[in-house]
Parts: sequence; C-alpha cells; structure tokens
Amino acid sequence: MADDRFHVYDTTLRDGAQQEGLNLTVADKLAVARHLDGLGVGFIEGGWPGANPKDTEFFRRARTELDLKHAQLAAFGATRRAGVKAADDPLVAALRESGAPVVTLVAKSHDRHVELALRTTLEENLAMIRDTVSHLRAEGQRVFLDAEHFFDGYKSNPAYALEVLRTAAEAGADVIALCDTNGGMLPDELADIVHEAVQAGARVGIHCHDDTGCAVANTLAAVRAGATHVQGCANGYGERSGNANLFTVVANLQLKRGFDLVPQAALADMTRIAHAITEVTNVTPNSHAPYVGMSAFAHKAGLHASAIKVDPNLYQHIDPAAVGNDMRMLVSDMAGRASVELKGRELGYELTGEHTKALVERVKELESRGFTFEAADASFELLLRDTVHGERKRHFEVESWRVIVERTKGGELVSEATVKVHAKGERIVATGEGNGPVNALDKAVRLALEQLYPELAKVQLVDFKVRILEDTHGTDAVTRVLITSSDDTGEWATVGVAENIIDASWQALEQAVTYGLLRAGRDC
Ligand SMILES: [Zn+2]
Repeated sequence: MADDRFHVYDTTLRDGAQQEGLNLTVADKLAVARHLDGLGVGFIEGGWPGANPKDTEFFRRARTELDLKHAQLAAFGATRRAGVKAADDPLVAALRESGAPVVTLVAKSHDRHVELALRTTLEENLAMIRDTVSHLRAEGQRVFLDAEHFFDGYKSNPAYALEVLRTAAEAGADVIALCDTNGGMLPDELADIVHEAVQAGARVGIHCHDDTGCAVANTLAAVRAGATHVQGCANGYGERSGNANLFTVVANLQLKRGFDLVPQAALADMTRIAHAITEVTNVTPNSHAPYVGMSAFAHKAGLHASAIKVDPNLYQHIDPAAVGNDMRMLVSDMAGRASVELKGRELGYELTGEHTKALVERVKELESRGFTFEAADASFELLLRDTVHGERKRHFEVESWRVIVERTKGGELVSEATVKVHAKGERIVATGEGNGPVNALDKAVRLALEQLYPELAKVQLVDFKVRILEDTHGTDAVTRVLITSSDDTGEWATVGVAENIIDASWQALEQAVTYGLLRAGRDC
C-alpha cells in the first residue's frame, strides 16, 4: 500500500464520469480501476453506492473482481439527512455496507448553500457532519470529508467554513479535501485560503476543477501551501472544463518537486495507461495533453533541428521516457536536412549526406503537391527506404483496380471493387464489397493478398481522413487522404494525394498494406 503521508486520490469513476458524453458501464469502471491501480494511485473513488444502482453494483463486483495492488477503494456519499440519526439513514447504510475501506463524505461548507440548497440551519449542518463522520468511524471505516464550495464559502463566511473543517476533523475525518466546486479560483488566492485551513489544524486535501484553466496549477499551489492529499481525474475528465488532470499533477509533483508518489516503473508506463483508459472511455485522446499526449514531445523544428540532433535535452523539459512517451520529429516543409536526419535516426536509419539531400528534395517536391508527412510516418519511412535502397522491391505489383458504386432498387448504396495484382509469381484477381469505395478496395486487396500473406488478417483500417486542398499552383484542387491502420502491436499512418479521391485513397491504402507487411517482418 502507498505511503499514507501523501495521498494521490483518483475520482475518475465518480466526478470524472460527469463529463458530457462519457458513459461507463460497471465493467468499464472495473477496467479503469485496474489501470489506475497499475499506475499506483493510493485511492480510487468508485462512485456513490445507494444513490446510484450502477455504483452499488460496482462496489459489489469489486469485492470479488478487483485485486488491487496499490489502491484502496473509496465510496462517495453525503452526510445524513437533517433531523435523522446517521445510523438510521439508508444512504449512510449503503456507504457502510459498500465494503469500501474509505468513505468520502461530501458536506456543505458555504453558509448560503446550507440555507438555500440544504434548507437547514448552520448548526444542524455541523451536527450532520459530526454524527455521520463519527458513526462511520465507529463502524470501522476511514473517513475523508469533501468540503464542497469551500473556497467560495470561505470568502462568504470564513469563520463558518473553518468551523466545518474543525468539526469534521474533531469527529475523526482524516482528511478535509477543500473543493473548488465551481472551478473559479486562481492559484495565489487559493493558496492563501489553503494556508488558513492548514493553520486551523486539519489535514487538508485539494479538489480542483479547470474552469479557469488552473486546476493543475491550483493543485500544485495547494500542495505548496500544505495540502497533503490531491484529487484529480485520469486525462482531466470531468464536467464543464474538467477536473485537475491527475496524470499531470502526479508527473509534476514526482518529476519536478521530488515527491515519491507512484513507483518509477509505473510512471514510465503512464503514457500507455492514459491511452488505455481512453480506449475504455471511448473519448478521443488529447494529442496535446502534457506529458502523455502524442504531440507532447513532437518537434516541428526546422530552425532547432540541428541543435536537437546534438543534444535533445536542450529542447525538452524532461526525458520523455520518464513518463513512457517519445520524442518525435515532424517532417514538414519547414524542416531541413537536420530534421530529416533526426527522423531517419528515430526510425533506425543513419542517413549519409547524399541520401539526406535526395530525401529532402523528394519531401519538398511531394509537399509542394499537397502531401504531408507530419501525420504520416509510415509513408515517410517507405520514401526513406526507397531513397536508401533504390526504388524498393514490392511485395506485390498492381496490374489494375476498379470500383463500382451502385444504388440498388431498394435504395441501398453498395460498392464493389476488383483488384488485379501480381505477387510471388502469381496473378491474383479478387473482388470485395463494402459500404463505400475505399472499404471495398480495402477488402479486395486483402482478399487478394491474404492467402500469400496471412499476417494481413491482423491489419485493420482504423481511420480515414479526407481533405480537399484548394488549388495553389493554377491546377485543380487536389484531395489528400490520410489512412490510419493498426495491427495487434500498434498503429501507422499513410498519405495519398490525387485529383481523384479514390486514387488518393488507393495510394494510401497500398502503402498501408506494404507497411503492415514490413512491420510483420516481411522483407521483399
Ligand atoms: Zn468536483
């Protein structure tokens, strides 16, 4: 179990799940919990048992299906209702019976919220906190308190906000997490209030929302001011602008402030974990996310490239390997010889001066025609191989292809493609059907080649992007197609450009298949 002196507390499954468009099944929640445990967080808040049937089910299944190595589960819930005993409140009973070793109780700390939302007296609110905390403690659970609207409450009535904190601490709550529920705070003012709360004698935690774009900064400022418990969500999920991104918080504290929060090896797996969670949540990963984004260490550095080649650390704030990410060079028309050489090295090729020159010229010429290699590493590598090895030998030669799009009597659109290829001394003709011309071509080319190259069964077309490029050289507009493919070990992207969209798609598709074969170890 993690050291108790500093808590990393994840609330993805409760607060993060409030994000618009995010919908997690119980199985999804269990999967996310396993990933978070793999990262080594101390606490995982599973949801609100009793108030939400799915969350009750989560805690029930967690007992037998979750084998957590680092984390403890926390059940979230409210203090008892006004005017009843904590022991008699069915929602408090659900927390008690959740099986979670920790309960996080949300309580009002803003006087106006007590009066207007809770419709009770300030005194009764304190009694509700005192009774519920001490009841759960007596029943053997550890209790944290989420002081809702604490910062706005402190500004409205500081004495009462601090009274809430003291009451909870005296009743046995281990941590009082101060919540910037509306997310409106800025770091300097927030730090001052955290400092006052620490002075009041409680162990303080911090829970921030990103409405000012300061959730991570606010969390760090709170830690500086004495908070020893940080809450956040995977990938910054959460309602409105999201919660503090727990990955950014952990990386900052561990790599920049010397905290020992999660195992080094787990931190070095953080990029993979962040992406694995997006697979479960089905939320497109933010490529610009700090530390773990695809672009977090990507350089489009014509000007800086020669220096990067000498010492990459001059242009990156940490070694990307510390969080399991990689430095990437983007090959663009801004790039010169040095970027191309760097990109070559990244792909495992030491380019000579002559090859570099030829490759730079080729890239520039293609980019002037509308190609882009920034997002198409695989196309760039094929180009590089052609330059180094001479025109590459092919796994297959294309004799011809053809696509027919038909609107049937029933009004359905079907596409049928036929490809004729030569491979390993055979001539193969294959036909594929699909819901669109590219889909049909993709099916036909695999059908033709799969008998000779069975590894193609693992290759899938996962994304297809089309962009019309306005005419820039007095010619007609051209179409650029980017195709992303995957196999069981990763993804790669290829690009095609032509006046005709199907021709552009075919170019990208042919390269995608060729690259897939190279990845599978098929040299030609
Ligand atoms: Zn929140």
